[in-house]
Amino acid sequence: MVSKGGSEALLQALATAAQTELPDHGTLLPLLRLLARVGQRDRKFGLKVQKAEATDIILSLTRRHLGHHLHLTHCLWVLRVCASNVTTGTMLGINGAMELLFKVITPYSKRHVRMVRAAIGALAALLKSKSNSRRAVNRGYLGELLRLYQDWHRNDVSNNYIYIRRGLLLCLKYITNIQLGRETFLGSRGMEILFTSVQDCLSCKNLDPIITTATHILRKCYPKEHLPVVTVRSSYSFPLPGNASAEPPCEGSEGDSESEGEEEDEKDWDNEDVESKEEDCDLETDVNKLRSRPVLDRPEQELEKYEALCAELFQNFQELEFESEEKKSLEDRTESLPSAPSHFIPSATSVKHPNCRWRNQSVTEMGPDPGEQDFKVPLQSWRKKEECIWDKNDENRDIAEKAQDKEFCEEKDPARSHVFALCSLLKDSAWYKKVFYPHCEASIDPSPEGRLESSDLVRNLLEKHRGDIPFHSPCFYAARAQCVKSIPGYRELAFPDFWGHQPPPYSKPVLERKHGLQRDKVLDDVRRLIQPGDVIGRTVFDLDDPSSLSSPAAPGCLTFFSKFESGNLRKAIQVREFEYDLIMNADVNSSQHHQWFYFEVCDMKPAVPYRFNIINCEKLNSQFNYGMQLVMYSVREALQGRPRWTRAGQEICYYKNHYRCRSAAAGGGGVRRRFYYTLTFSIKFPHKDDVCYLAYHYPYTYSTMMSHLDILEQNRNPRKVYWRQQTLCQTLGGNPCPLLTITAMPESKNRDDLEQFCSRPYVFLTARVHPGESNASWVMKGTLEFLVSSDPIAELLRKCFIFKIVPMLNPDGVINGNLRCSLSGDDLNRQWLAPSSQLHPTIYHAKGLLYYLSSIGRAPLVFCDYHGHSQKKNVFLYGCSIKETLWQAGCMVDTAVVTEDVGYRTLPKILDKVAPAFVMNSCSFLVEKSRASTARVVVWKEMGVLRSYTMESTYCSCSHGLYRGLQLGTQELEEMGSKFCLGLLILHLKSLPCSKELMAQAALLLDLEEEITDRAQRRCSNSSLESDDEPPCAEEIDYDTASSSDGEEEFLELDQEIQECLSCVEGETEDEGVTTGQTCSSRALRGLYISSQPAPNSTALPLGSPALGLCRGFESSPV
Ligand SMILES: [Zn+2]
Repeated sequence: MVSKGGSEALLQALATAAQTELPDHGTLLPLLRLLARVGQRDRKFGLKVQKAEATDIILSLTRRHLGHHLHLTHCLWVLRVCASNVTTGTMLGINGAMELLFKVITPYSKRHVRMVRAAIGALAALLKSKSNSRRAVNRGYLGELLRLYQDWHRNDVSNNYIYIRRGLLLCLKYITNIQLGRETFLGSRGMEILFTSVQDCLSCKNLDPIITTATHILRKCYPKEHLPVVTVRSSYSFPLPGNASAEPPCEGSEGDSESEGEEEDEKDWDNEDVESKEEDCDLETDVNKLRSRPVLDRPEQELEKYEALCAELFQNFQELEFESEEKKSLEDRTESLPSAPSHFIPSATSVKHPNCRWRNQSVTEMGPDPGEQDFKVPLQSWRKKEECIWDKNDENRDIAEKAQDKEFCEEKDPARSHVFALCSLLKDSAWYKKVFYPHCEASIDPSPEGRLESSDLVRNLLEKHRGDIPFHSPCFYAARAQCVKSIPGYRELAFPDFWGHQPPPYSKPVLERKHGLQRDKVLDDVRRLIQPGDVIGRTVFDLDDPSSLSSPAAPGCLTFFSKFESGNLRKAIQVREFEYDLIMNADVNSSQHHQWFYFEVCDMKPAVPYRFNIINCEKLNSQFNYGMQLVMYSVREALQGRPRWTRAGQEICYYKNHYRCRSAAAGGGGVRRRFYYTLTFSIKFPHKDDVCYLAYHYPYTYSTMMSHLDILEQNRNPRKVYWRQQTLCQTLGGNPCPLLTITAMPESKNRDDLEQFCSRPYVFLTARVHPGESNASWVMKGTLEFLVSSDPIAELLRKCFIFKIVPMLNPDGVINGNLRCSLSGDDLNRQWLAPSSQLHPTIYHAKGLLYYLSSIGRAPLVFCDYHGHSQKKNVFLYGCSIKETLWQAGCMVDTAVVTEDVGYRTLPKILDKVAPAFVMNSCSFLVEKSRASTARVVVWKEMGVLRSYTMESTYCSCSHGLYRGLQLGTQELEEMGSKFCLGLLILHLKSLPCSKELMAQAALLLDLEEEITDRAQRRCSNSSLESDDEPPCAEEIDYDTASSSDGEEEFLELDQEIQECLSCVEGETEDEGVTTGQTCSSRALRGLYISSQPAPNSTALPLGSPALGLCRGFESSPV
């Protein structure tokens, strides 16, 4: 109907019918019904109504039928459909439509309920127009609506009129979209009225639509506040070199409270013609720009200095023979060392048949060699066989542990006496800091005896603990941590980083979301306003107020701490006995970027759920709404042999709150209002007198990385692994940024072998430019461990490539607990086009090194920057393709002009096969303007690297494959890092000419027949192109203020309403409002949902019906 001009014809017919003095209701009523049904599905209906000048016709028709409620009801349906176009709605409002409707719906009466319902529906539609809302508020309709709502709420005891009550709430919802509406709502005690009414509804599941809409209004109208901090600027600042200035200050709480334009622009705009093209307008469609190669961003002679970072190209290995002579005697020992065989790539078969959900209990059966006591850091890649079975035994385990815990504290077992003694020590949360940080030891505990005692204890423990965790050493960690330069001058270590983390032998499924969870949390927040007497409001931790750090905690109160590497917590406020509001610190020299948190908490009561609200999150949505949990580390658990971060937290959700911040808009001089979001979760701590740590994601500090490199260097096989660790540069904060070169030692000193050594193509890897993306570091850890391992695949891979790796591009950010930026307050992954040597040294020099390689004709075969993605699932790559970008943007592509090697698709395709967490369908190869200054795009364009990627790893879980529905742990992330290496080897075999020898070796190791013969299909499928970094989440949870239900649901609702009215009229003539009990209420409810059941009179097509065409496969099988 719509496409064939049906709307116009119907409007024309209506105009004709309305002209007659006494219209024939036998045709008028069906005409009106048809208009309502067609009109609501016609996106241009409003415009057509205007064009046909039909608004007046409809309005006067409505007026004329005021006396006859069935006819009037029909007119109201059409009015509602017309009003769904904002412009038309505004016109109707100006012409008195709302006054008319108010006459119909007031005063409260149960007579002619269908008519009242239709009128309320029309009124709600009109109030979507902001000028109508203003008009309504000015005429006092808001208070009227509230009173009406109360009347209906009070009188509808058997819940027969849910649709009317919800309709009234929808009116209130739209009217409070304007500031004036919200103010009037507050002034009319709207909060109390809705809050109280919702309390009556909570017990009845039928009333969900009412509760949801009311909660929505309550959250929106909650009076706006500034964050309870002195300034939103970071507690930490760093004086920048030169006259560089950080981002303009944000007014935050200093600025006066809101004046105009709160949530949204209050201008009416018709979203009818705004196509959803927006997402594509960021694509770079200028072919010349896509293909141009910018000039060097620095003097050419500067590149020479990077020669020093490529010593492998100039090494003549004169010492090679000498070295091997020297080490000959050691050879046997070295061979017998368990020198880091890979965790993850034991053989091709295990790649193909991985253990579902269960990790390899034991990758290597080899145990520690007792004869290696003199070896500095015991390095074990075997795992203790852990008998834990998650599903069945988890409960039992918990119980067992509780018992054990009790024992732990109460029973005097001489065999465990040292552990027991530690128990009392634990009560003093600073106990381990005293021991591990000698220089602050004296200040905390002056008693030499006490110190000695605790030192011995911990020494004993460390002795026992030594080597428990592969690739980790507490001693190395402490040594590295002492050299770190941080803005706050950290003097303490966080226990988890010091002691180490060993992934649990199971992975945890994503958390199931409880029905109505967010609603309950929001109502709990609103309760603070309604019942202010319950709120404690005691600040228990405050970075900005040093006195709060030293003063002893109030009794019954948690103690917080965050002054350690990567720590982030600015302020903690106790709200109720077991509830705390937490505020994160902004990035150094910035007033934003809050997401990462990492803090210590102690003095908890066991088995009590504590609720935490992190109230200054900034992202629009979060994986916390889709089953992701945070991570927790318990010191007690660690000392009992389970040193690990685990996914923790229940009742997790993420929603917009009532805190606001004014800040200068980026670039322009305008003022942009910033919203904050709450992440809420509750935690039951496992033990009493414990020290626990909570974090956004598995922490990975700078010292962790540095000590990891120490261990790798010490444990590699120097005869096989060429390993060189240099300093790329010093960071702004004065910390060295390491650069690694890893490849295979030349086979021998003869010329061919040395030549082969020098001519290996480069692979350039970087990670952690964004400090909050600790998952990227775990992936990098997996890559590094694999690369130096004695795994035969790793050996082969080292012979294929020279790896240049910068494992942490932003050490300062990581150290100081930033989310996104460096000390300059800049996002370093937006500086690659023109990095400043002063402000962005790591980027400047990483780019310099890449320039250098490219200038000597050795641009890397693959460049990959490891990241974490906070809003998407899976691990995937972003790459760069001119053609795919142009196609996606809808540009004509002259294939003769634009030729492109599709080799950029090979690696992700391989990874899709070999890495269980990797999903090809999540990859994208589009070049966006907003990403022009990222590593990936700059390396692709300026260095001409075809395979230049960003690798994004989820914080949450996978949507496909082996890990589907499981939250990724560090083991899965590390595995990804090693599988990436495997992918590189296969890429080499597929894409580069290889010696027969190499192919033979590879064929032995990998089940590559299929892989190699199946030459990459060089066709670009247009499969799932998604946008970069953090696009809005596709999964929809109604957490936003501005959301309105304009979808299919509304059609069905009105259709249902019309249908019901009709059947009523046909059946019992005009017997409104007297239908009783369950029948009516369930029937009324049906209209509120999209029913999954077919309408009773619709006939379903049989499966094998030829009419369906597509189902032919079913024909042969008996159904
Ligand atoms: Zn990132």
